[in-house]
Amino acid sequence: MVALNNHRKRINADLAIAVNRENLITGQLLRRENSSKVKVGPQQGKYFSSPEWFTDNEPLSQLYALDNKVYQLSFSPLKIGQEVIGWIGYGYEINSLLAQNFADSTGLSIEFLLKTGKNEWSTLAAGHPNMEGMDSNYEERLAVELLDDHEQDSYIHTHTVIEESDNREIMAVIYGSRSNLLEALRQNLWKLIVLEGATIFASLLAAYLLAGDISRPVKKLVQQARYIAKGNYDTSVNVNEKNELGQLADEFNQMQQAVLVREQKISHQLYYNTLTNLPNRNSLIEKLEGLFSVPDQNFTLMHLDIRRTKTVNDTLGYETGDLMIKDVGQRLSNLNDDSLTFHLGADEFAILLMTSDMETIQQWQQRLEATMDAPLCGEGTLLHLQLHIGFARAPEDGADAQKLLQKADTALSHGKREMKAFQSYLPEMDADANQRLGLVNDLKVALEAGDQLVLFYQPKMQFSNGQIAHLEALIRWQHPEQGMVPPDAFISIAEQTGQIDALTLWVINEAARQYLEWQKQGLNLSIAVNISAENLKNPHFAEEMNNIWQNYQLPIDALSLEITESAVVADPASAIQMLCELKNQGIKLSIDDYGTGYSSLAQLKQMPVSELKIDRSFVDKVESDPDDQIIVRSTIRMAHDMGLSVVAEGIEDQQTLNWLEQNGCDLAQGYFISRPLPANELKEWLQKEEQRKMDSHA
Ligand code: C2E
Ligand code: CA
Ligand code: CA
Repeated sequence: MVALNNHRKRINADLAIAVNRENLITGQLLRRENSSKVKVGPQQGKYFSSPEWFTDNEPLSQLYALDNKVYQLSFSPLKIGQEVIGWIGYGYEINSLLAQNFADSTGLSIEFLLKTGKNEWSTLAAGHPNMEGMDSNYEERLAVELLDDHEQDSYIHTHTVIEESDNREIMAVIYGSRSNLLEALRQNLWKLIVLEGATIFASLLAAYLLAGDISRPVKKLVQQARYIAKGNYDTSVNVNEKNELGQLADEFNQMQQAVLVREQKISHQLYYNTLTNLPNRNSLIEKLEGLFSVPDQNFTLMHLDIRRTKTVNDTLGYETGDLMIKDVGQRLSNLNDDSLTFHLGADEFAILLMTSDMETIQQWQQRLEATMDAPLCGEGTLLHLQLHIGFARAPEDGADAQKLLQKADTALSHGKREMKAFQSYLPEMDADANQRLGLVNDLKVALEAGDQLVLFYQPKMQFSNGQIAHLEALIRWQHPEQGMVPPDAFISIAEQTGQIDALTLWVINEAARQYLEWQKQGLNLSIAVNISAENLKNPHFAEEMNNIWQNYQLPIDALSLEITESAVVADPASAIQMLCELKNQGIKLSIDDYGTGYSSLAQLKQMPVSELKIDRSFVDKVESDPDDQIIVRSTIRMAHDMGLSVVAEGIEDQQTLNWLEQNGCDLAQGYFISRPLPANELKEWLQKEEQRKMDSHA
């Protein structure tokens, strides 16, 4: 209803009417007499009297009688999609004003008559022409003429029935003198001609002005668009108009600003890393190309990679990982020298040093190590920032940007495999990369044949009595062409190519066999075997271990397993479940490389292990580095509180051994005690040790 009335008001209609598909009048509004207010019409809720009007879908217009009034009523169909759901009509009352308009333009009188009772006629509206030269008693004269009827041609008289129902009839009567009609037509014709002429002139003028008004600003906009397309953003269009074109110009200028900002952002991202805001790989390549374009330039390209980023991300979350990357970026760019820092993406950086002198490079490396020394506080954990760096020197190692990048990358990969923090590129490394590819296939053959693989054994000494009762088995691969391949070079290949289960099974079988052989010789040595994170993902792993113990009839403490801390923290839930199964079978477990995986104390408590091996990177400098002393001392205390024994690995000198003994460490392992040895050499070594001890006691 409100909508109906709103629309009625807008078009100033006297009547509004809504009819539904069933012909029911669902709304009828009438304008009140001499007021702008409306009232509900008498037929609301009733059926519409002329349903035949709606046979067609087209809008239609009819004369409509209501309440002793006649309306010119226009209906339009109300549609949802193609379907007509009803009709809306708006009507204008046919009143004296309308009748007068008719009379003025035709020169004829018109009367709308309503017949109610029998022959009871009343006038609804009437209009009479008011023409020049027309006398005041025109009507009278007309009536006489009508009555006389003797000059049939001189006047017009017609009537039409508008509506006819049981008890009423509405009729329009039109009458007047023919000369009046002709005069009116003539006057109207002149009016029409003048009007027509004026209209044509006005529209031509308007069209001309409008065309200029539209085309001028549009031309400006087009010009500006071409300008922007060429990359010029410094001017803006100025259209001094308050209309749509003015608005369009404003929006155009805003768009231009937005494009400018976006383009600046995109070009920034093209050359800068979004996390650290340091120049990125594209910047580096441009810089390198610039350097190579000048002959005889000496410089060094360092490729840096943060160690253990994945572990930090997995255990402390990506936010901490990002924090660490940002911090490293900050420290690198703060290095106070002429080096340039680039962030290549993820946890990789590059540094350009404008020298290729080895001594200067080493000095730079020392400064770098000093800046990385202080640990970073993140998530309540102290993060030790450690980097792998590979570097290549220009022009000797590479004569263009791509080559030099590739060489620095080769050096980095090599350094990672060899656990070297700082690695210079060497030409033989390229052959090395090719060899690695070959290793994938060769490893398969080696695992099937078994005779290229061998276990070395490294003793663990008990501080309490100086005895050796435990060994760690470390795999070696005697490659038929390449000679000895270190485990760091092929364990990752085995993991990546799905061969690690076979490798671990080979190692455990071999260790079991060796254990039994030593037993026969009267040597009681339990052997720790390294297992990989991938092994813990194999759901049959615990079962396979059980089979080995059964097959060899091994005492439960014959073999034990070492798992790196990072292997557990990467996927603690499933790793801990597998470790619990192994532990339930009675197998002794150790956490290897402790301190590098950032496991929390809570996680450590959940691990069903009985031994903890402090990573050799902490043991390295424990004798001289106060930070490492704090870490090692607190680790030993904490492990003891939890009932775990502690092994320190990587002991390379007497002082370190002494320090660890004084600080309550349980077992010692490292080159200072013995390098990993083949089984037969180990036996000789043990015998010599016995001899030495006896000699020193004697
Ligand atoms: P890891 O488990 O930490 O093994 C100790 C590594 O430290 C051995 O390197 C050993 O030779 C070396 N090492 C021992 N004492 C010292 C020392 O005083 N100073 C220094 N700088 N290093 C010392 P290796 O034999 O090259 O093994 C490297 C890694 O390869 C091992 O690290 C272990 O993670 C993996 N690995 C070795 N054998 C196996 C295996 O049979 N199975 C699996 N899954 N991984 C193995
Ligand atoms: Ca180990
Ligand atoms: Ca270790």
